[in-house]
Amino acid sequence: MDTILVVNAGSSSVKFQVFSVEGASGLGRQMKGQVDGIGHQPRLRVSDARGVSLVDRTYPAETISDVAAGMNIAGEWLREEQAISPIAVGHRVVHGGPDYSGPVLIDHDVVTRLAQFASLAPLHQPHNLAPIRSILNNFPNMPQVACFDTAFHRTHGPLADHYAIPDDLYKLGIRRYGFHGLSYEYIANRLAEAAPEISHGRVIIAHLGNGASMCALRDGLSCESTMGFTALDGLPMGTRSGQIDPGVVLYLLNERGMSGPDVQKFLYNECGLKGLSGISSDMRDLESNPDPRAALAIEYFIYRIGLNAGMLAAALQGLDAFVFTAGIGENSVRIRSKVVERLSWLGAKLDPERNERHAQCISSAASRFPIYIIPTDEEAMIAQHTLATLGNTPEMN
Ligand code: AMP
Repeated sequence: MDTILVVNAGSSSVKFQVFSVEGASGLGRQMKGQVDGIGHQPRLRVSDARGVSLVDRTYPAETISDVAAGMNIAGEWLREEQAISPIAVGHRVVHGGPDYSGPVLIDHDVVTRLAQFASLAPLHQPHNLAPIRSILNNFPNMPQVACFDTAFHRTHGPLADHYAIPDDLYKLGIRRYGFHGLSYEYIANRLAEAAPEISHGRVIIAHLGNGASMCALRDGLSCESTMGFTALDGLPMGTRSGQIDPGVVLYLLNERGMSGPDVQKFLYNECGLKGLSGISSDMRDLESNPDPRAALAIEYFIYRIGLNAGMLAAALQGLDAFVFTAGIGENSVRIRSKVVERLSWLGAKLDPERNERHAQCISSAASRFPIYIIPTDEEAMIAQHTLATLGNTPEMN
């Protein structure tokens, strides 16, 4: 059976999934796994499509000291213990820079080009590229495809793509790229199946997970996003600040004696829900905590979603549908209910019973536009892109 390996490599873990290519009928998820604790307590865990554990193994820290070594161990396990040798590997790569508006078959030139975008995403791009390089060196004939978080947003017009800065900086790459593009693309495709009548309209998708952003779609294409040059902008997230006056950054640097790396660590790791609540970055923890600081963090999150929805509705000049997705959007009845309340001025009305049972459409008949929950699946999107880039285009089962 032909398989596709999907790899999502981060700073201290590498996640992977195996999809079977099932002829004209599509792609089927076979396995889901990760190597985490890289550098201190590496652990390989894989489960099958039903969630049954296939392996849970720890390794001495020195045997897996970086992400590439983590992927090598996972690859070895797949080959030697599961007899899986994929026909191609699809990678999540956070930044395609200004150049890539779709997935690309990887060769050494592409890697060189993608490495140039590392300065645009220093926390992600080098880790994304590490397993790509390792596979290129060890298995030079293995087709590899890079799928970008930025690519889906390359349809932004010049107004959405620019900051008000001199053009030489724009040409250097300081642009509003937007992220979570693989998630938005997946949702846009699902929406076209679930509600073809509105998929050509004006749609806001709220990707509310540990990372959070919102995207405005017109005719199935991204035309505005709450994220910009980096995945720091827009909504407050688990540990990221979201939108913040650049004057705050200047103040931290100039008046508080923080260095550039200090500020970077602060804005990425110490802010957002975690910073505001002083309790947790995890929405479930906050929802179950009676501390007023937890309530403030939740209310702030909802308030900012409301503000950003207004901004995106203005970009779209109207609204024909609203979609919730990702961990919080797919699972939290309370957050969805409060967000819809915030959108009531736009004519949004919830059906509480449908919201409670996580129905696909959770708006009431009186709502001016439908409100959906559509679970996202970035890995399936990568598998589809990988296969399509090899020359086939089956659908996901
Ligand atoms: P993600 O990054 O998409 O995996 O989403 C992670 C976020 O989803 C975390 O903040 C979780 O607390 C949140 N989450 C997952 N399940 C629930 C739930 N049932 N209720 C509230 N938040 C949830």
